Amino acid sequence: MRRTMSALSFAALAQLSGDGGQLSVSRQRSPWKEKQIRRQPRCCSTPGKSVRLPAVVSIERHQVRRRLQIWMVWTQEPLEWERPSWRIHWPSIGVAVPIGLCQNCQAVDSTNPPAATCSVCGATPQQNPAYKVVNLSQPTGFRTLWNASRDFDGVFEWVPRASRPKTGAIQRPVINQRNFGVWSGQDTVYVINDNNGACFDFVKLARGETWVTQAAVDQVRAMTGAPAQNYAPVPADTRALASIKQTDIFIVGITRWPQGVYADPRNVYGRAALYSFGFMLRRAAAVRLDVDERELRVGLRVLNNSGTVTGQIFLSDSLENGAGYSSVLGRPRELEALLEFILGGGAPPDPRFNAPMLAVAHAGQCQSSCPDCLRDFSNLAFHNILDWRLALDLARLALDANAAIDFTASYWQPAADDITRAYCLGQPQGWTFQHQAGLPSAVGPRHVELVTHPLWLSDAPLHPGLDAAIQHVQAATGASPTSKPVFDVLRRPY
Ligand SMILES: [Zn+2]
Ligand SMILES: [Zn+2]
Repeated sequence: MRRTMSALSFAALAQLSGDGGQLSVSRQRSPWKEKQIRRQPRCCSTPGKSVRLPAVVSIERHQVRRRLQIWMVWTQEPLEWERPSWRIHWPSIGVAVPIGLCQNCQAVDSTNPPAATCSVCGATPQQNPAYKVVNLSQPTGFRTLWNASRDFDGVFEWVPRASRPKTGAIQRPVINQRNFGVWSGQDTVYVINDNNGACFDFVKLARGETWVTQAAVDQVRAMTGAPAQNYAPVPADTRALASIKQTDIFIVGITRWPQGVYADPRNVYGRAALYSFGFMLRRAAAVRLDVDERELRVGLRVLNNSGTVTGQIFLSDSLENGAGYSSVLGRPRELEALLEFILGGGAPPDPRFNAPMLAVAHAGQCQSSCPDCLRDFSNLAFHNILDWRLALDLARLALDANAAIDFTASYWQPAADDITRAYCLGQPQGWTFQHQAGLPSAVGPRHVELVTHPLWLSDAPLHPGLDAAIQHVQAATGASPTSKPVFDVLRRPY
C-alpha cells in the first residue's frame, strides 16, 4: 500500500486547505510527471483532474527533491505545460459552483441554484450552526511561491484534514433488506473544504493568473523571508475548495429504529455512530474484496425522509467513474453478507473480522477506537468520534430491527460499567457507582446521574431501559435523575 505523505513543510498548503488539509497532486505516477518534478521542482501541479482535494500528497518520498518549494498558490484551471520551454499558462480562477452546505444537519443542497435555507432541516444563514450557500472551486493546480525556496529538511508535519465527502440530499429508491435500505448507482460526490465554514478569500497576484490566500502568503514569508507580493487590483473571491466527481456509490440507511433509539445526524452521537458504521463497513469491505481501504471513501448523507432528518452512510469509489467496488457492495445480498461478516455470522460463520475485535486484547483496551478497529490515516479527522461499539450496534440493527441497542450487548460490558466507575472516581466529591434498574449510574451527594447509551433519545418515548431506570431512581429517592451518554462520560467527563 502506498503510504500517504504528510504535510512536508506544506504549512502553507495546510493553511490553504483550512484547519489542516492536504491536497493531493496525483495518485498516478508517470515518468513524464517525475521528469516534470525533477525539471521544475517549483511546480508540482499536473494537468487535468489529477489533483484531489481531500486526499494526501502522494508524491513518493524519492521524488521529493531538495529545495522543494513551499506550496501555496493555486489556480483553477489545468496547467498547460509547453515543453521544452516549460512555460506555464495560468488561466483564471474559474467558474464558481454554488452549493448549499448545512452545518446544522450536514446536508448538501446540490440543486442549481441552491435553496436559501436548508431543504432538509430548515436551518437559515442567520442561525448557529448555519446553512449557507458557498461558491466551490475545483483546484487543479498548485505551485510554489517564487523566491521562497528553502531546503527540504525532512520534517513532516501532519494536521487533520478538513475535507469530507458529501452527496446531495436527493431521495433514492432504496431496496429494503433485513432492516436496512440500500441504493447503488452513479452519483456526484463532493469533497469540500470550506475552512470550517469560513471559506477562503482568494486574492490575485499582480503577475499572471495566480490566486493566493493572504494568510498563506504571510505564513510563507514568515518562514522563508520571501519578498512582499504585489496584488492585482481586483476584488477578493471567496471560495470553498472542492473536488467534484461522478462515481459509483452505494447508500445504506437503517429502516426501522427501536423505541427511544435514533442516530440523528444533527448531534455528535448520531454522527459518531453513522461514521463509525461507515468506516467499519469500509474496513470489512476492504478485507472481503482484498483491496486497499483507500479505494473506498466514506461519507455521511443527510436528507429529509417524510419530515425526519435522516442520516445515511455512503461509500464511493475513490477513482473517478469508479472501479466498481461500490456497485458490487451495493447489492442487497452482498451488503447483507458484509454485515454478517462484520458480526462474525453468516453460513458458515466467519469470525476473522469480528473475533479479534471482541477479544479481550482489544475490547479490554479500546474504549472508543484505535488502529486495530476503526482508525486509519484517512479518517484522522474523525478519530475523536469513532467508536467501534457504536459501529457494531448499527451493524446488528441493520440486520435485525429488534436488536437490543443498549448495554446488554456483550461488547458494551464491562466497558460501560468500567467507564462509569472511572467517572465516579474522577469526581472531586467522590461519587459512587451504582446500577439503577441495570443501568450504570454515578451517585453524587445531591443527585443521581444515569449513564446512557449514546443513541438513546432524551425525549419521550424513551428507551424502555432508560424509562425503567428513571422510575427506579424516582421511587428510591423521590427525585428525578439526570442522564449523560457514555460517549460524553468518556470524552467530556467534566
Ligand atoms: Zn440542515
Ligand atoms: Zn479499537
